[in-house]
Amino acid sequence: AHEGILRRQSLRESAARTYARSLPIVPVRARGLTIEGADGRRYLDCLSGAGTLALGHNHPVVLEAIRRVLDSGAPLHVLDLATPVKDAFTTELFATLPRELAEHGRIQFCGPAGTDAVEAALKLVRTATGRTGMLAFDGAYHGMTAGALAVSGGAQDVRVTRLPYPHNYRCPYGVGGERGAELAARWTEHLLDDPKGGVPAPAGMIVEPVQGEGGVNPAPDAWLRRMREITASRSIPLIADEVQTGVGRTGTFWAVEHSGIVPDVMVLSKAIGGSLPLAVIVYRDSLDVWKPGAHAGTFRGNQLAMAAGAATLAHVRENGLADRAAVLGAGMLGQLQGLAADHPCIGDVRGRGLMIGVELVDPEREDLSSGNPAPPDPALAAAVQRECLRRGLIVELGGRHSSVVRLLPPLTLTDEQAVAVLDRLADAVAAART
Ligand code: PMP
Repeated sequence: AHEGILRRQSLRESAARTYARSLPIVPVRARGLTIEGADGRRYLDCLSGAGTLALGHNHPVVLEAIRRVLDSGAPLHVLDLATPVKDAFTTELFATLPRELAEHGRIQFCGPAGTDAVEAALKLVRTATGRTGMLAFDGAYHGMTAGALAVSGGAQDVRVTRLPYPHNYRCPYGVGGERGAELAARWTEHLLDDPKGGVPAPAGMIVEPVQGEGGVNPAPDAWLRRMREITASRSIPLIADEVQTGVGRTGTFWAVEHSGIVPDVMVLSKAIGGSLPLAVIVYRDSLDVWKPGAHAGTFRGNQLAMAAGAATLAHVRENGLADRAAVLGAGMLGQLQGLAADHPCIGDVRGRGLMIGVELVDPEREDLSSGNPAPPDPALAAAVQRECLRRGLIVELGGRHSSVVRLLPPLTLTDEQAVAVLDRLADAVAAART
């Protein structure tokens, strides 16, 4: 069955298929961190549905919440009508939000995917400000629909002004850390204020508190606070894309809590649906200038996703899983730094909470005379991914050069599982180098 399914998929499915290429497995059962394939092999899943599975696969509280809706006879499709399930989800979500948004916020249910919520956020700030341009960051990823693509890294769109994101030691401004962040912030101010070469007043700025697909780049807190000041003082709405960073992943319930900023719009998806498709934006009520029906969509009322999501949010909150992610993530980062000390091909280890990146580089090509760090090594990263899979560990690659091994384990990861994940990764790195 295993080989036949893989063969038929490769024949019939679009050439655009992604994960299925690097992870040729056929999952048939899953629980927590573990996936079982049709070939009977078991894998530790550190991809977690691209960061969706905060509680891992098939967590009992999620299954129970879904069953309750199924058994209740409630309609599964209700467009965007009010239901008890939606009410419970909204109440639970608001209990987790930064206070200003919980007290003065509105929620808008969007289409099923993160990219749908990004579209809604972009359209909302354009409608509210009457302006069109957007500020977005180098290395960003916001989705695959046209508007979201326009504000993602690499895409060219005249209406988007791309700003430096002070990520890690490859910061385009030559210096990582606080000084790079300050330079990046000054550059942003300069662009906005320069009457000659400057940018027309934009409709908004969209930022990920930690870039995920971009290669796990945590934004420095001080820089995010500067972005908040820069946008607030110029009446530019600030959109935080927490699609991947939300629901405890980075060690706080929402990643903006690290810096203490309160954005004007938050874009939420992935984990808020408890493994089912759900995407919303939450924003200050002063921005709620939509005319009724100005933004719509058939699938804005997924009852099963709302029930699974509410159960997930409650479980993370009641069990302090964000704090747990912070402690466990810090421990894992420390271990990985030890691994990096043994392997010059690990150029950097970075992350926040259980959103961790290990960057593979080619140390032979480091140019000390010019101060250039060793270049990314995508072939080695792909080899590490393959070796991980051979050892029953699922990891994904990210970053502009696909040279960053990403770990996004569920927040329910136990200490023993963390050790098993790190052991397999260490073995895979050693094997990939030979
Ligand atoms: N924003 C961020 C920060 C993401 O990581 C992603 C997905 N990886 C998206 C938006 C898009 O979400 P979706 O794939 O559900 O459209």
